[in-house]
Amino acid sequence: MASASSSRVFTGARLIVASHNAGKVREIADLIAPLGITPISASQLALDEPEETGTTFIANAELKAHAAAQSSGEPALADDSGLVVDALGGDPGIYSARWAGPEKDFALAMQKVNDGLTAAGAETPEARRAHFVCALSLAWPDGHVETFEGKVFGTLVWPPRGDKGFGYDPVFQADGHTITFGEMEPEAKHAMSHRADAFGQLMATVFAR
Ligand code: IMP
Repeated sequence: MASASSSRVFTGARLIVASHNAGKVREIADLIAPLGITPISASQLALDEPEETGTTFIANAELKAHAAAQSSGEPALADDSGLVVDALGGDPGIYSARWAGPEKDFALAMQKVNDGLTAAGAETPEARRAHFVCALSLAWPDGHVETFEGKVFGTLVWPPRGDKGFGYDPVFQADGHTITFGEMEPEAKHAMSHRADAFGQLMATVFAR
């Protein structure tokens, strides 16, 4: 979903990646390297991380991208992602990271999700529908922003299975699959994930060369 009526194409040689998460920066670096674009991480420039005060994934991705573009004076890319559970009214949603607490305990976060589903009487795969969302925003210092939202749909299993992924991966089974994201080889997950979807849109639109 492009937020502007006409897309702006990125023509620069450097791109600020507005994340302090080394894993995310590496993933983005791999994607843009073939285009001859050098990624510069927010940590390299010692940029402040703004508070995520938005109420949607898109709002949070855009506020992070705008903040980094403003303080660096260069185009900046940011993302925001999380797990949306239908029977929990969309929770944990934009609070997906926060549900794991300060210790980043995702066993606890997955338990909370499952407890909520149990309390809601959600026992069948249909009642346990969920999707991951990734909003990706590229902002320019003049305030222009291009935003894309990717999704992957599935159902939540219990108990958690697999240790290949991160976050909520061990309980998420994508539609058409019998293994969880936690059991899937990273290459397979990366080819079908919400992040891949959002990046595909970004690459086709903003990085079209
Ligand atoms: P963010 O860094 O603010 O975007 O936080 C996203 C949070 O959503 C992560 O901490 C995870 O809990 C969850 N999340 C996002 N993407 C994934 C994924 O691909 N697998 C599992 N959990 C994810």
